[in-house]
Amino acid sequence: MKRVILATALCAAFIGAPAHAEDKVLNLYTARHYQTDEALYENFTKATGIKINRIEGKDDALLERIRSEGDNSPADVFVTVDASRLAKADELGVFDTVDSEVLNARVPAHLHTNTWYAFSTRARVIVYNKAALKADQVQNYEDLAAPALKGKVCTRSGSHPYNLSLGGALIARLGAEKTQAWAEGVVANFARQPKGGDTDQIRAVAAGECGVAIANSYYFARLLKSDKPADQEVISAVGLVWPNQATTGTHVNVSGAGILKHAPHKAEAKAFLEYLASDEAQRYFADGNNEWPVVPSVKLDNTALAKMGEFKADTLPIGDIAKNVAEAQKVFDRAGYR
Ligand code: FE
Repeated sequence: MKRVILATALCAAFIGAPAHAEDKVLNLYTARHYQTDEALYENFTKATGIKINRIEGKDDALLERIRSEGDNSPADVFVTVDASRLAKADELGVFDTVDSEVLNARVPAHLHTNTWYAFSTRARVIVYNKAALKADQVQNYEDLAAPALKGKVCTRSGSHPYNLSLGGALIARLGAEKTQAWAEGVVANFARQPKGGDTDQIRAVAAGECGVAIANSYYFARLLKSDKPADQEVISAVGLVWPNQATTGTHVNVSGAGILKHAPHKAEAKAFLEYLASDEAQRYFADGNNEWPVVPSVKLDNTALAKMGEFKADTLPIGDIAKNVAEAQKVFDRAGYR
């Protein structure tokens, strides 16, 4: 009897042995967390044998942590949302350059820079109250500044990254002067001072407090998928417009990632980014937040996105939009869009 117990204990000790020093690991700092991301990480470990240590946090806090850790930072990859945040990380010099044939072949040129890659896209859409406005009044971002919409427009804060990136895209398309005039027009049309997030804007549109708002597409998709009666009421009261279809296309933003300059596991980090561009990972990464894959051949089976339909996306290089974000902040400040 004693022997059996001993054998069992030895066996347990063997199984529970500490990881060997040569075990491959990847330290991931991510501002993104969705349930499907769990499967994403597990599959990466299964396919490559590389274990993922994940640190989750808010964008600014993670970035601050990477900076304060400096040369000694254990972080290999930083994942975040919105080009303006990726650009901020880039400006702070935390990213290394990425040289990957796989990534360059899979991710379209306008959706990466030489330091970070987009792995999913989201669109900044217009949502209007069907009883208060007609769709043809709100077909373009520019329309939101038209005097006819006085007292009707709602958005979240002008200094939020989503709006600053849109501002950056408008600067690229229209120039700073026209973008400032646009922002002034939007401010003059406010139904209320900016407050809340994008979902709050959609709800306020449905309630009639606002006639029209701007929101990221996945917030609309979430409401569309929700089986809560209140959310279904919201959806039935509002209309969705893909802005600027007759002109430059709808502003598209991204979730993305880059390899950190002081990454202790550079090869594993590159393998992880390449994995994110695989068919399987693309589906998990995009579908988890009702976004679209960046790899054009990958299609999702997502009921909400299918309902929302196809649209023409603006194909401005994402790096150009990101570079304009600092100027967008100045332009919005001058226009009083806060
Ligand atoms: Fe968001």
